[in-house]
Amino acid sequence: MSRYWSPQVHQLSPYIPGEQPRIPNLIKLNTNESPYGPSPRVMEAIQAANNETLRLYPDPQATALKAALAQYAGLSAEEVFVGNGSDEVLALAFQAFFQGRTEPLLFPEITYSFYPVYCQLYQVAYKMLPLRTDFTLPLTDYQQPNGGIIFPNPNAPTGIAVSLAEISRLLEHNQDSVVIVDEAYVDFGTESAASLIQRFPNLLVTQTFSKSWALAGLRVGFALGHPDLIEALNRVKDSFNSYPLDRLALVGAQAALEDLPYYQALNQKIIASREQLSQDLTALGFEVLPSKANFVFARHPHHSAADLADQLRQNAILVRHFKHPKIDQFLRITLGNEEQNQKLIKTLAHLV
Ligand code: PMP
Repeated sequence: MSRYWSPQVHQLSPYIPGEQPRIPNLIKLNTNESPYGPSPRVMEAIQAANNETLRLYPDPQATALKAALAQYAGLSAEEVFVGNGSDEVLALAFQAFFQGRTEPLLFPEITYSFYPVYCQLYQVAYKMLPLRTDFTLPLTDYQQPNGGIIFPNPNAPTGIAVSLAEISRLLEHNQDSVVIVDEAYVDFGTESAASLIQRFPNLLVTQTFSKSWALAGLRVGFALGHPDLIEALNRVKDSFNSYPLDRLALVGAQAALEDLPYYQALNQKIIASREQLSQDLTALGFEVLPSKANFVFARHPHHSAADLADQLRQNAILVRHFKHPKIDQFLRITLGNEEQNQKLIKTLAHLV
């Protein structure tokens, strides 16, 4: 508390990301990073940087990366925006589309916990809509007056996805405000809504290099949408940070996009391990929600999730537990590599 702070800062409750502790031999399954490294081309591109490239500012327009992303998404470069992780892209989108509206921004009650934080930070009115009792997302509830809509697909931390047909129906009924589909986990088996961008100029799709591209440390995210929406994001960005990405991030992300076969194989491997881990957890008595992400959300009928998370931690395995009363019986477990997943199952077998 300080008399120098603006009143708004006093009211902020900052977002606390999953911890990144330094415990030897830790199996870290708490923040949905990839258990595998990125394409070797990424390090090659980063190592090719030299004093001369680092001496100079990066390209403020990120032209080469945007062109590569446009080709990847089957869109034009005017339909692409890049930022330091999708968190930054979302922050700019909240300012560009939701700030100053009288109607509330709608998002699920159980979802990515950054959304209410951004609402506080940018003073956006919001309304959280409950999930169904089976934790699926009832998109038809979102057909009500609003100043915008945002939801992840698949949702976090449940991992449950909605279909493209449901998103399309929502967009047909909601053409007066911006709808953001946060596709942080889309590459693990969900169809992207990017194919709807030509039909709906109010649709913004965000994605990240932090999960399926195995580059969380590089901080690269992007948005796809009608040039009109991208222009608004550029206006906010240019008023705030005219160099969206540093030179290493730019070349690293671009190199990743040049090795799609590597990533297709990686995603298949992660999807297969999700099915295996879900089966193994079910065999131990867990109820596992049907995940389309690189994590599973599971609860045990006879064991407290908080206790299990503590006990796993004592065994150097870190998973995520949320205190929200509607989901505090669940553990969110990021998929590790095969050995890590087996170690997790072995450890849990002693605990339940
Ligand atoms: N959206 C969702 C739903 C997420 O879970 C995350 C990762 N925590 C992000 C966005 C942000 O990811 P990043 O900033 O690393 O791109």
